[in-house]
Amino acid sequence: MKALTDLVRDVVDFPRPGIMFKDITPLLADADAFGACIDALCAPWQGLGIGAVCGIESRGFIFGAAMARALGAGFVPLRKAGKLPPPIVGVDYGLEYGHDRLEIGTQALSPGERVILVDDVLATGGTLEAGRRLVERLGAEVLGASVVIELAGLQGRAKWSGAAPLHALIGG
Ligand code: IMP
Repeated sequence: MKALTDLVRDVVDFPRPGIMFKDITPLLADADAFGACIDALCAPWQGLGIGAVCGIESRGFIFGAAMARALGAGFVPLRKAGKLPPPIVGVDYGLEYGHDRLEIGTQALSPGERVILVDDVLATGGTLEAGRRLVERLGAEVLGASVVIELAGLQGRAKWSGAAPLHALIGG
């Protein structure tokens, strides 16, 4: 089986000049590697009674949904503004240039439910941290987060204010 790192393609100047984009589609297309990736993402959370995996739009849906199935948990999408029907709650957060918003259905999680957050890439960390704040607004307990790739040079981990663990398969 190919190593996960060999199945992530670096794309220079995409989607804008100066950005080095991590393309995970070769990893998704490799059945063995994708399966191994999901197993590795789930490993820290097995047996912890995870009620829901909260995936961040959009590539967090791909990994999060497969993890939910493997962990016997539900899947809850954290979506960009305007995609979910009401009732919803949202959080605004800053990006390197501009701002963005994540929303969740207010009925999606129960108070005290044990959840994890999942995304493909941790860059500056703003998105994952916004996801944590959003889920906590519904009273759920964030056990931690998993990402496939951490761009360690961008210091995103420093923004993760949760005491809960943040796991990365690649980078760190
Ligand atoms: P952050 O908020 O700066 O940590 O950015 C993380 C979000 O941007 C995640 O939802 C990623 O899907 C996306 N992202 C940032 N950089 C990349 C990349 O190089 N490849 C794919 N997605 C990226």
